[in-house]
Amino acid sequence: MNSESILVVEDNIDNQELTKILLEAEGWQVRVAEDAPAALHTLETYHPRLILMDIQLPGMDGLELTRRLRAEPKFQDVTIVALTAYAMRGDLENARSAGCDGYITKPIDTRNFAQTVREYLENGRTTPS
Ligand code: MN
Repeated sequence: MNSESILVVEDNIDNQELTKILLEAEGWQVRVAEDAPAALHTLETYHPRLILMDIQLPGMDGLELTRRLRAEPKFQDVTIVALTAYAMRGDLENARSAGCDGYITKPIDTRNFAQTVREYLENGRTTPS
């Protein structure tokens, strides 16, 4: 499969649909999980190149889920990009210290979202902020 694979972890249905439409329009394979348990279940059988990780999730939040994934050797190669409405000082540091490679703010800017994701896909885990 040459198509880039992406897992979107997002509890908001509108954001699930918007991100899926925008990413699939690029020809990328997209799966969606609505919370951390669903993401962990999906990741048992699906190894995406990139995870778009909503930070604010019901139950286990996206930072904690990221920490858990980074604790497992098999997820070291996955690019994880935080997706959050929070744009407060310190959020990028929190996301990075949890193991995220970068940060996209919500509401999603439909004009540049796909290009931003493409850059993360191309740069993998070494993307500078
Ligand atoms: Mn959320």
